[in-house]
Amino acid sequence: MAANRKLLVLPGDGIGPEVVGQVLRVIDWLGEKRALSFDLQEGLVGGAAYDVHGTPLTDETLADAISADAVLFGSVGGPKYDELPFELKPERGLLRLRKEMDLFANLRPAMVFDAMVDSSTLKKEVIEGLDILILRELTGGIYFAEPRGIEELPEGGKKGYDTNLYTTPEIERIGRVAIDLARKRRGKVTSVEKSNVMMSGILWREVMEELFQSEGQDIETEHMYADNCGMQLVRNPKQFDVIVTDNLFGDILSDEAAMLTGSLGLLPSASLGAKDKNGKMRSMYEPIHGSAPDIAGKGIANPIASVLSLSMALRYSLDLDSEANSLDLAVQQVLDDGLRTKDIISAGKKEVGTSVMGDAIIAKLK
Ligand code: NAD
Repeated sequence: MAANRKLLVLPGDGIGPEVVGQVLRVIDWLGEKRALSFDLQEGLVGGAAYDVHGTPLTDETLADAISADAVLFGSVGGPKYDELPFELKPERGLLRLRKEMDLFANLRPAMVFDAMVDSSTLKKEVIEGLDILILRELTGGIYFAEPRGIEELPEGGKKGYDTNLYTTPEIERIGRVAIDLARKRRGKVTSVEKSNVMMSGILWREVMEELFQSEGQDIETEHMYADNCGMQLVRNPKQFDVIVTDNLFGDILSDEAAMLTGSLGLLPSASLGAKDKNGKMRSMYEPIHGSAPDIAGKGIANPIASVLSLSMALRYSLDLDSEANSLDLAVQQVLDDGLRTKDIISAGKKEVGTSVMGDAIIAKLK
């Protein structure tokens, strides 16, 4: 790791700049109090970039993202941009970043803080202490593979079709990330597909099993059909540690897992690319929530998902595990103290705004 860690900050639209603002304060604090030097650069993305440059992502910002040690992303989108042509919509900026940076591994943790155990719709005993990770393949599969399209049928009407396609290297590389992550966690990987009805699922299971045999003997591994996984997530989610799955199933299962925790404003995510020959990995970190236009500018957005995204960046891209642990602990303590933003408020707790929540997290770090 170079002396200066290069961070590109892309706050984006809506509440993005508000929540990322708190992340910047934490970064400042780490710089000052822990003597960590960051080479911090800020850029525009989404509607904010469109307003200035007429595009949701400039080539210059993309180049900065590719050369950064980590990109910290806020959120994009909003009603102001709803009528723009497809290619200019704010979300295209995010999708282009993911594609051009080749971020094939999407990490979506779902954890329940003790203080938040009553926010879930599930029984306390089912979700108390939950800490699982859904690893979704992000650049292949049915959202990208050809052929796809909508065509007229000779007999009238149309046909719409997509292709779910995975190759051995694509399955192996996401499988390796799963094994690595499990080693840093509780040592279990569940590979999820539908090999009972899909050819791509048969290959997925075959390749994963070979990988588990050759590279994953030190961890516990299993295979599960996606529909069963969907059920198991609400029946007994604590049986899982790392769930690795394809783009489509990962999209659905990661949202299901997120909802187990009952709080959109608390969950971070990471998207990782391959390591280059110097061991440097492209990466982007972002909260799972959107730009929340309904509360933007009011100073009430919950910054915790973004702060925990920074914690993931410290852990996975910057080799700063102990700082990541301190940050996770600070968030946990603030919640234990009963501080809540409006989205997670409950009886008997103290409602605070975005910057007071940031103050409280930084105070705990001290
Ligand atoms: P959203 O996540 O922005 O908001 C859903 C609800 O949750 C809203 O009521 C919002 O106020 C609340 N909420 C979300 N994050 C919060 C936070 N940190 N603190 C407090 N409350 C929070 O989803 P949406 O309303 O479906 O989408 C709004 C816009 O965001 C759309 O333009 C959409 O395309 C975009 N979006 C962007 C991303 C992204 O940038 N990755 C992801 C999802 C949606």
